[in-house]
Amino acid sequence: MKTLVRHGRVALDGRLQALDVLVEGERIVALGALEAASADRVIEAGGCYVLPGFIDFHTHVDDQIGAFYLADGYEPATRMALENGITTLCTFVTQGPGETLLQAMATARAKAEGRSHCDVLWHLTPTTFDPADIATLQALLAVGYRTLKLYTTYKFAGIFSSYDRIENLFQILGPRGSCFLVHCEDDELIDAVDASGLDLSQALTHTLLRPEEAEVVAIRRVVDLAMAHRAALHVVHVSTLEGARHLVASRSKGDISFETCPQYLFLDESWLARADGHRWLCSPPLRGDRAPFLELIRQGAADIIATDHCPFCARDKDSWNGQDLRAVPNGMPGIGSLPHVTWKIWEDDPDRAALGLAIHVSLNPALRAGIGDRKGALRPGMDADIVVLDPSGPLRPLRSTPSDAPEAYPGFTSSLAFRHVLLRGETRVRDGQLTQAQNPAGRPLQPRP
Ligand SMILES: [Zn+2]
Repeated sequence: MKTLVRHGRVALDGRLQALDVLVEGERIVALGALEAASADRVIEAGGCYVLPGFIDFHTHVDDQIGAFYLADGYEPATRMALENGITTLCTFVTQGPGETLLQAMATARAKAEGRSHCDVLWHLTPTTFDPADIATLQALLAVGYRTLKLYTTYKFAGIFSSYDRIENLFQILGPRGSCFLVHCEDDELIDAVDASGLDLSQALTHTLLRPEEAEVVAIRRVVDLAMAHRAALHVVHVSTLEGARHLVASRSKGDISFETCPQYLFLDESWLARADGHRWLCSPPLRGDRAPFLELIRQGAADIIATDHCPFCARDKDSWNGQDLRAVPNGMPGIGSLPHVTWKIWEDDPDRAALGLAIHVSLNPALRAGIGDRKGALRPGMDADIVVLDPSGPLRPLRSTPSDAPEAYPGFTSSLAFRHVLLRGETRVRDGQLTQAQNPAGRPLQPRP
């Protein structure tokens, strides 16, 4: 079966080019001015951007976080992802108390297989580091796993790593090809905040409990360690101007990248000041004046834009007693709104916005996840994950999650319409709707360990 996507503007090599794309089976086989006669099927992409399938590099799906279970399972999350052009979902598998990382990975794979509408890649979150655990990580890196997640905070959840441990892992696993994804908020600084004088009934107080300085201090420390040991470092969900600037300045000195999330660009701490502000509690917290941060990101400073999708159902999110905001589960949804809100970064310049999606939500995440040989660009030999994006569809409200988790972007709208989304050569979404809802075709991208 050959499919020709023609008359669109294709994002390739950082430019938009008038090219046709020929797909055979699961792969792209040619780009150029191509004859329709060469194909069994033609997709007309006139007036549309033709982009590589999007990759949400940072999501939490079908997992327990602290005392609460996430609102989205693999089927609904990947359905909404694919309907919005996301052909690869990167999510986390966290080693729980009393289990090995391999057991946690097997559980996650069992939940995802046969239920995922888009491809799935797991970042690994190990939580014990005995010699046997290190040997497991080395074996996983040897068979193609690449990304390990570490936290400089969250002692209560059993996922905290000291800087000493992080340094040790950089030394041992860095040379084995690991890319370290690090949540940077300095735990000592957070512990040092005296909560006794604070009004914990107000969600806005969250910004005082987890101050900007905690992120900046942790970023500086972890960047120094990565440079000293030549480890590949990716800092997740950067929310501060100072932290982002430090990462930009450090990039040329090592293998260092970072992501930010749409909520740190378009939502500020005033959302926390609302009567229902606890619904916007996430960590790091929403911050003050976003204009300078947004301007830096507009210039392309962040390698990756990802959601940190972490939805809790309305009942769980609202379950606190109104007295102590520390009882509120931290996180908000994002999968369904990722391309729409990312577009807004450059919305005065649609071509730049389309290229922004191709670079920051496809190419760079593919490279960082270690799948740049298959995903992230429209080239012969690559998986035919293709988004035919019409920027001039009907205006619709954003919807970030298929669950009843409180919407992160109420009042926001988008005119982006997903005319076709191809997953490995097959049209799986037509005009924003899944074509084969009963027959999910997503695959795990990593080998069974
Ligand atoms: Zn996260």
